[in-house]
Amino acid sequence: MSTTPPPSTTAPASGASSRALERHPRPLGGDPARNLRPLVSLSELILNNRTAESHQLAVKRKPDWLRAKVPGGEGYKKTKSNIATNRLHTVCEEAACPNLGECWARGVATIMILGDTCTRACGFCNVKTGKPPVTDWDEPERVAESLRGLGLRYVVITSVDRDDLPDGGAGIWAETIRRVKDACPDMKLEVLVGDFKGNQGDIDTVIDAGADVVAHNLETVRRCHPAVRPSARYERTMEVLRRIKERGAVAKTGIMVGIGERDDEVIELFDDLVAMTSDHTGPRDPRDPSRGDPCDIITIGQYLQPTRNHLPIDRWVHPDRFAQFETMGKAAGIKVVFSGPLVRSSYLADKQFDGLTLPGDA
Ligand code: SF4
Repeated sequence: MSTTPPPSTTAPASGASSRALERHPRPLGGDPARNLRPLVSLSELILNNRTAESHQLAVKRKPDWLRAKVPGGEGYKKTKSNIATNRLHTVCEEAACPNLGECWARGVATIMILGDTCTRACGFCNVKTGKPPVTDWDEPERVAESLRGLGLRYVVITSVDRDDLPDGGAGIWAETIRRVKDACPDMKLEVLVGDFKGNQGDIDTVIDAGADVVAHNLETVRRCHPAVRPSARYERTMEVLRRIKERGAVAKTGIMVGIGERDDEVIELFDDLVAMTSDHTGPRDPRDPSRGDPCDIITIGQYLQPTRNHLPIDRWVHPDRFAQFETMGKAAGIKVVFSGPLVRSSYLADKQFDGLTLPGDA
């Protein structure tokens, strides 16, 4: 018997639940199919990568190592209150990030600009997709004023992809960076940006605005790009990272594992990252002056399927494997490799940044 109430009897959802339903509408009361074993592996169909160890979220509980800490403590309360008072829009809350307690306790948060509607539809991402509403040209000033005096040590600002705008949102990005740096001179600012469809002028506009770290995520290995990031290109992402380094900024990228890749492809990605992002005439690599300085930071974390409408989990990667990825990434020449089941691009971003200047502290 179905326990799902008819639509007319359901209470109106509010806040985070209404936003979740807007993105992926399904009956309240749960997904009636969630206990059914999938007949086929979507990973197998899309990625041709099924192994005997493949896992499906629908039939497997999360392993113990994916349990996050319960939010609490003075630092967490202060950040929570500041964000609520200033009505900032955070990815931490929108994505129900499991690290919220730990990051907010350290005064680290991720803010999203350029609206809440993305023009792309990646198979792993829970952000709403569609035609964005009217662009808010006052946003840079509003974000800067909201952050002024909050006492955050480090902030990450990210955005949806805005392929509908002639400059991909580069102008608003640059203005936001300048105003935030002006309003909060003691706070470190990291920006996590899109690829601006490879338009070098737009990419330069953002890089040159002066953020402390410019991040652009690879998300997955080369072979999985068509299924995971159909609107992006592996080489184009590498080119954005190369350009960041060529212009002398700190570059950072991130990938998820457990979405269909193999371990050897992750190692190949490390080698590609160093080779492709050091191929420039900008600042030299202090450890090997014969080449340009490569991408500085990579984060590696377990993919978690946001809803049944998203790509399935292919495997749970063991913490020991994450530790091996860290060793191998550093051996390949990446300065900071932040690798662990709960690691996200912005997870303890201040500590990742500190790792650049405090070797061994990453
Ligand atoms: S990992 Fe990023 S999104 Fe998650 S709580 Fe930390 S800052 Fe927010």
